[in-house]
Amino acid sequence: MKIGSGVLLSKISNEVYNKGLSGLEFAIGIPGTIGGAIKMNAGAYGGEFKDIVVSSEYLDKNLTIHEINNREHEFKYRFSRFNNNKDDIIVSSILQLQKGNKKEIKAKMDANIKSRKEKQPINFPSGGSTFKRGDGYITAQLIDKCGLKGYNIGDSYVSDIHAGFIVNKGNATAKDVLSLIDIVKKKVHDEFSIDIELEIEVLGED
Ligand SMILES: Cc1cc2nc3c(=O)[nH]c(=O)nc-3n(C[C@H](O)[C@H](O)[C@H](O)COP(=O)(O)OP(=O)(O)OC[C@H]3O[C@@H](n4cnc5c(N)ncnc54)[C@H](O)[C@@H]3O)c2cc1C
Repeated sequence: MKIGSGVLLSKISNEVYNKGLSGLEFAIGIPGTIGGAIKMNAGAYGGEFKDIVVSSEYLDKNLTIHEINNREHEFKYRFSRFNNNKDDIIVSSILQLQKGNKKEIKAKMDANIKSRKEKQPINFPSGGSTFKRGDGYITAQLIDKCGLKGYNIGDSYVSDIHAGFIVNKGNATAKDVLSLIDIVKKKVHDEFSIDIELEIEVLGED
């Protein structure tokens, strides 16, 4: 199925469910578009875009269209070639989905949404998971063990529901968030000698 890069994940997940197609259940509840999700190889609940992308068309800065296959996306955990080629714009992608049982697809989607509501601080604005999952450790658990749940700089808080999320409880500035990130990184480093990495992309600093 060929999908334009601007299509919202919530919309396409529901549309393919209506057609009885399985493979995108993991994406329901991830806020964003197909383009952003492919660029960062978004994933959740055991699924990732790298598992379902057949090919993508992108436009380079000279407005030339290219088509790349799955391997040429250079997918890794929360990474694709588009991280290193920021001028390239994904236009559309072909996803491989399977005919499935609508009841089972719906059950998976409902379970994923339920789990998100229970385990993620979706009642406050955030950039999603602030830090990448570690190799051999769960970053949120390390942050929690440092006693940082609920720690804040201004209105920027380490979520007390999920320590991997930094949430804005009012008027947090980018500066507040970045200062809090520095504190979290330092405390985890001091406690565990581990350098945790950002999953979010920093665009503004004030
Ligand atoms: C509450 C919450 C929960 C989240 N849960 C998850 C999760 O479970 N799993 C997960 O993986 N992520 C999760 N995220 C992160 C989410 O995947 C990203 O925020 C989203 O995919 C970004 O997509 P976007 O379309 O909004 O892109 P933007 O935020 O607009 O852009 C993100 C990046 O992608 C680039 N980009 C966007 N469109 C294109 C395009 N067409 N071509 C090339 N580059 C493009 C932008 O230049 C930018 O670098 C979560 C975020 C939030 C806020």
